[in-house]
Parts: sequence; structure tokens; C-alpha cells
Amino acid sequence: MAGVSAASAAGKIGSFLSKKPYAPPSWASHLSPAPSQTFSLGHFPTPIHKWNLPNLPNGTEVWIKRDDISGMQLSGNKVRKLEFLMADAVAQGADCVITVGGIQSNHCRATAVAAKYLNLDCYLILRTSKLLVDKDPGLVGNLLVERLVGAHIDLVSKEEYGKIGSVALADLLKKKLLEEGRKPYVIPVGGSNSLGTWGYIEAIREIEHQIQISGDVQFDDIVVACGSGGTIAGLALGSKLSSLKAKVHAFSVCDDPGYFHSYVQDLIDGLHSDLRSHDLVNIENAKGLGYAMNTAEELKFVKDIAAATGIVLDPVYSGKAAYGMLKDMGTNPAKWERRKILFVHTGGLLGLYDKVDELSSLSGSWRRMDLEESVPRKDGTGKMF
Ligand SMILES: *Cc1c(COP(=O)(O)O)cnc(C)c1O
Repeated sequence: MAGVSAASAAGKIGSFLSKKPYAPPSWASHLSPAPSQTFSLGHFPTPIHKWNLPNLPNGTEVWIKRDDISGMQLSGNKVRKLEFLMADAVAQGADCVITVGGIQSNHCRATAVAAKYLNLDCYLILRTSKLLVDKDPGLVGNLLVERLVGAHIDLVSKEEYGKIGSVALADLLKKKLLEEGRKPYVIPVGGSNSLGTWGYIEAIREIEHQIQISGDVQFDDIVVACGSGGTIAGLALGSKLSSLKAKVHAFSVCDDPGYFHSYVQDLIDGLHSDLRSHDLVNIENAKGLGYAMNTAEELKFVKDIAAATGIVLDPVYSGKAAYGMLKDMGTNPAKWERRKILFVHTGGLLGLYDKVDELSSLSGSWRRMDLEESVPRKDGTGKMF
């Protein structure tokens, strides 16, 4: 590959969906275990551009890393983790993967697509309400893609999930598949284990390279949503170890900051680093009404930001993170003044379809087109109908 830039190598025919040997960045070479292989599943590097948010503190600049456009049906932050997790599944000779998540899990949808790209079957355990657990889950949002690519879906209620937990649920399904002679590979919730953490360690190398070739910009802070912890673990470790040295601010959309610090610490320990989560990342609660639930104010925020900047945030993750960030900028402007911030948009657009009822009263206007009495046709013969 000597003399060929990463960007042009990525454009090579046949490079997408191919397996490549992986070597960690030099500043991460002491972390172990380190993956030796990766599958190219996403469109990287994702762009970074200025995000002209309204009402920023004095001199604050916000830039946005568009991991929401790392793909289409296979998009968002989970792609980066899956590049490593899927390579491991294939290396272990798996013929199917199992993973677990909420009913509109972006991770489950991304996994279902990645699995099919690699000719693996996909089994999803999806958590839903007690009232819906015996009903057809329908085709809204992420479910449409999952079901189109033929993922097998097992529904469990929130109560069952709370009682049994994701690990035992995945184990149960794994045991059944093994008895059927299958070779299942289990991917944990959100793809957040030490192997998945490499996805965002690698994203830091990508950002470092983007900064290098762009000259001027340096980032003081990275802001991102946190749902299962793998993204912030990778970003925090990478930012500290690389030349980036930006402070990582996480906004958690479920559980609480204490839970995530210990989870992130486990991921860091799992890579045999002696760094402390509390020194690497600041975690704030942005859960609001609860996971995947929104206040009218949050939804109005998503709508207003879309209308002001063209950036469509998802209401479950990046919407809550951006809402939390701007709220904190309003209350503590001095903390953010003159800082250059990189907000990581982690994707989740399909989840928006689950919120159409709540969004309908906020959304843009429409009207019946006003046709003047006799508008003569200008294109073709007009004999179409
Ligand atoms: C999963 C997810 C997150 C959170 O990432 P974690 O690594 O699970 O903390 C953020 N945004 C979107 C859109 C996601 O799907």
C-alpha cells in the first residue's frame, strides 16, 4: 500500500466489504488484546464540518463529525464497532450472530445488515413493552430494515429483560442454536466490549488524520451521546493517548453516570490500560423522561435544529446529547467560551420514524398547490394519462 493514501485505497473496487489486516495506531500499540483483522463495512472517513448552531457562547465553535452518514441501512456509530466484531465472528467460523437491544435498536439493525453482507444469519432479541410482546412488531423504522434483510426476531418484555438480563437471554438463544448444530457468535448490547472499543479508537486516528491534512483546526472538546459505553470508551482512550488530547463530554441517555464510569473502566481495564475513566471523560445525565422517551421540548429542539442547520438529530441519542450540550452552554457559558468543540453525530435516523405521531404537530407546513386557471403545459405532449 506504499504511496497510496487511505482515502484512495478505500475507493478501490472490491475494498468495501473486504477483510483487511489491522494494525493499531502507534500510540495504541500497548493496548491488548488488539484485533488483527477488520472488515470494511462503513464509508470512512466521515466528513467533519462547521455546525452553525444558534445561540452559542462567545467565540464558541461547534464542528460536527458525521458518523450518521457512515452508510445508509448500515450506518451510525455501530458500524465502527462491527468492523472488528464481524471480523472476529468470521475468524471464529460463526455461521450466525446473536445480539440484543431495544425494539428500535440501531445496533441491532446495523448488525442485521452487516451479518447479511457477510452471509451470516442474524438473531435479534428485542425488548418491548409487556403490552406489545405478543404482537407483530410491525415495520416501523429499524424494524423495516431488520425484517427486509431477514433477521430472526425474538421479542421479550422489559420486565423479562430486567429480570433475566441481556447476557443470560443471549446465552439461552445461543444454547438453542448450538443444539441445532449452528455456530452462533454473540455480540453484546451496543457492541460495547473491549473488541468493539477499537472502533472509536480507530475513529480517533481518523480524526487525527483529518486534522493533520486540514492544518488550522484543533479541537478542545469532543461531545457525544452515550448509550452502552463503547463509543465513549474508545473516544476517551484514543483522545488521551493520541495527539488529539481533547476533553470528552458524554451525555448519557439511559442509566446514570456512575454506572457508565464503571462500565467504561471495565472496557479500559479489558485493554490492559492503566488509565482511569474519571480522568478521561466527563459524563452527564441527559436521560430526561427515560430511554427512547422524549419531552415535547426535546422533540421541538430536534425540529428547530433541523430547520436551522439541516442536521437531523435522532431523538434517542444525538438529539438528547445536543440538547444537553446547548442547555449546559446556556447555564455555564464561561465553561464553553472560545472553545472548539467536535460533536460526534452517531446516527439513528431510522429511529425517528417511531416518533412521527409526536412530531407531526411540529413539522413543516404543506399546502394544496394553487393552479391558475389555464397554465399551458411546457414539457412533452401531455398525453401521459
Ligand atoms: C448506540 C448509539 C449511541 C450510543 O453509543 P454507545 O457506544 O452504545 O454508547 C449513540 N447514538 C446512536 C444513534 C446509537 O445508535
